[in-house]
Amino acid sequence: MDFLPPDIEQYVQEHSTEEMQILQELARETHAKVLRPRMLSGHIQGLFLQMISKLIRPERILEIGTYTGYSAICLAQGLNENGILHTIDINDELESIIRKYFDKTGLANKISLHIGNALNIIPSLKETWDLVFIDADKENYLNYYNLVFNQVKHGGWIIADNVLWSGKVVDANEDDLETRAIRQFNEFIHADERVEHLLLPLRDGLMMIRKK
Ligand code: SAH
Ligand code: CA
Repeated sequence: MDFLPPDIEQYVQEHSTEEMQILQELARETHAKVLRPRMLSGHIQGLFLQMISKLIRPERILEIGTYTGYSAICLAQGLNENGILHTIDINDELESIIRKYFDKTGLANKISLHIGNALNIIPSLKETWDLVFIDADKENYLNYYNLVFNQVKHGGWIIADNVLWSGKVVDANEDDLETRAIRQFNEFIHADERVEHLLLPLRDGLMMIRKK
C-alpha cells in the first residue's frame, strides 16, 4: 500500500540519506524469502528511527516486534557507548535471518534478541527504558504500553507504529479486532495525563509518547 503519491515518495527518498547497503540487502532478502515483507520499516521510516535514536542517545532500548531486524538495526544506530537494545519476536523462523544481519552490521554484542511472546518476556527484563518501540501484534498494543510504562524513565519515549492502520482508524465501516484495538490504544494515550504525545502522520502513523 502507498502512503504517499508515488512521485512524492520517490522525491522524498531521493532527497534523504541513502539507505545503508546492509539494510538494502536485508530488505531484498526479506522481500524474497519472508512472508508479509510490507511489515519491514523501510528506507524513510528507518532513517526517522535512526534520527530519533541519535537525538535521544539511549542506553536501553526495547523493541517489541523484531520481524527481520530492520528497525532494530536502525534504532541501534543511536545507542550510547554502553547501550543495549533488547528486541522480542514470537516467530522463531525469523531467528536465523535476524542474527545474520545483526552479525553483518557488527551489532551482535549490542542487541539482545528474545524469541517468544512479548507478553511473557517483557516482565522478565529488569531494565529501565529510555526508548520503547511498539510494533508487534496490534491487539496487544495497550497491554504492551501498560506492561512497560513503569519501567520507562521520566522523560523517556514510547513510540508505537502503524497507529493509523492504513486509515482504517477513521473509517466507520472498519470494525475488525486490530482496528478496534488501535483506536482504543490511541484513545487511551490521548487521555493519559502522564504523557505528552504526538500522532505523527509519517508512513502508517507513529504515536510519539513522552513520559512526563
Ligand atoms: N519492527 C519491524 C516490523 C515488525 S512486524 C520493522 O519495522 O522492520 C511485527 C512482528 O511482531 C512480527 O515479526 C511478528 O512475529 C511479531 N509478533 C506478533 N505477535 C507477537 C508477540 N505476541 N510477541 C512478540 N512478537 C510478536
Ligand atoms: Ca510496523
